[in-house]
Amino acid sequence: MLFFGLTSSVSQAQHTRAHPLRSSRSASTSIGGIEYLNTSEFAHRYGLHIAWAQSDKKMVLSRPGTRLELEAESAEASLNGLRIFMGDAPKISRGAFYIGRVDAERYVGPMIDPEVGYSSRPPVRVIALDAGHGGRDKGKINTHLHVNEKTFTLDVVRRLKRILQGAGYKVVLTRSDDRYVELDDRPEIAARAHADVFVSVHFNSVESGASRVTGLEFFSLTPAGQYSTDDAQHEASDSSRVFSPGNSTDNWNARLAYEAQRQLLADLHSPDRGHKRQRFKVLRLARCPAILIEAGYLSNDTEARKIATPAYRQEIAQSIAKALENYAATVASKD
Ligand SMILES: [Zn+2]
Repeated sequence: MLFFGLTSSVSQAQHTRAHPLRSSRSASTSIGGIEYLNTSEFAHRYGLHIAWAQSDKKMVLSRPGTRLELEAESAEASLNGLRIFMGDAPKISRGAFYIGRVDAERYVGPMIDPEVGYSSRPPVRVIALDAGHGGRDKGKINTHLHVNEKTFTLDVVRRLKRILQGAGYKVVLTRSDDRYVELDDRPEIAARAHADVFVSVHFNSVESGASRVTGLEFFSLTPAGQYSTDDAQHEASDSSRVFSPGNSTDNWNARLAYEAQRQLLADLHSPDRGHKRQRFKVLRLARCPAILIEAGYLSNDTEARKIATPAYRQEIAQSIAKALENYAATVASKD
């Protein structure tokens, strides 16, 4: 690391001399007070080919095995067929297509290629699993079927623990029985055990009237300075400026969520509700890369019946385990 620090200014200068034209083509710009990066600059960093799509509001950045589809003025984007949500909608300005700098560097970039521009992590040895809710907090409830979230999250986490221990990982649970654990204490339990990664497992619900909604949803912490997904009124304007402990691993948080989204969608054949960003307390306070998985909707009777079967909960656990193995392999390839 010291070696890198001593040489970085030199290589920066060489870089500038080697590309005298690029600085004059405005690699970045400020739009509405937000810093944007020209997609040609972003594509250059990741070796991506750029093409405008037919609608002339859409751009496709691709290379073999990678396809990123962006749409101007839309936070929703697609990476390798997965739904992802940018913090700042891409913009078209003077004929050029721009992507938010924070999205480029701390969200999409790390999902495309963890080799570019960010630091390595120690190998994954200890995995913290957080079963959502517990005790007096039942979580989501399906009153028709008499099932609740806290029971299923604990069951999935126990199954996942057995699989991961069998694969040689040390596993710590934030709760191993039906008890109430404060949200602040959950990342703390993980930190005390020197966890290398933190996975919170939940089940979803929608308010009355939308009981047809099903699918899988993935959350990583909103990067500092950005608004969370679904924060239409930008109510979080004050907290958006705050740098939380969890923001120190923004890039790996995004990568971890990507691995989970990719694996669970491939294995569980449930609709993709997307990889979104929220400032959930367990993610804000995490001191290692962390995600929260909503592994299905209890408010939908069909999906709730499926989740109520031990065989399906075993499938969920196996799929999360595979995602964690893939994440660990990515971390190991980066050192
Ligand atoms: Zn929950």
